[in-house]
Amino acid sequence: MTIALHPALDADLSFHPTAFTGGALSCHCQADPVRVTIDSAIAHNHACGCTKCWKPQGAVFAVIGVVPRDGVTVVAGQEKLTIVDQKMTIQRHACRACGVHMYGRIEDPSHAFFGLDFVHAELLDGSEVPPPGFAAFVSSIIEGGVDPGEMNAVREQIRRLGLEPYDCLDPVLMDTLATHAFRQRHAA
Ligand SMILES: [Zn+2]
Ligand SMILES: [Zn+2]
Repeated sequence: MTIALHPALDADLSFHPTAFTGGALSCHCQADPVRVTIDSAIAHNHACGCTKCWKPQGAVFAVIGVVPRDGVTVVAGQEKLTIVDQKMTIQRHACRACGVHMYGRIEDPSHAFFGLDFVHAELLDGSEVPPPGFAAFVSSIIEGGVDPGEMNAVREQIRRLGLEPYDCLDPVLMDTLATHAFRQRHAA
């Protein structure tokens, strides 16, 4: 049995290694979609099983990565954007009409990831999307309603895609967070 992870992951077709260096994201509204441009490649692109990331209908994972916030520009539909939860570390700016999250932003300058915005590569125009490199917060899909008994199969499915399933972020990002915490603690 296979579980619907995410349309792009399930098709195993939508993601291609690419020299992608920017583009435009659109929400799902047929009329007057929110449009956001990014002027750089998407880094750390990954599948995320947390309960906060936006996911397409029926998917248990989001696909999300980071870009420098300075290169993120809302070019249409600003008036339709709303912050999902002001209290979250990552403030997710969503289209209030279709619910799609256009970008997530960290406003706390002391956070390790301050300066980076989180975006969903699948919202890019065209199919030239960087492939996800790993799966994060896999165990959290249980919180989202997946039967715990399916988890072995889900992790197997993720590995078959060539991705490592992690229950937090990948080692690179976890090390980044820990390094930042050490430096903050030992700052003169
Ligand atoms: Zn929309
Ligand atoms: Zn997430």
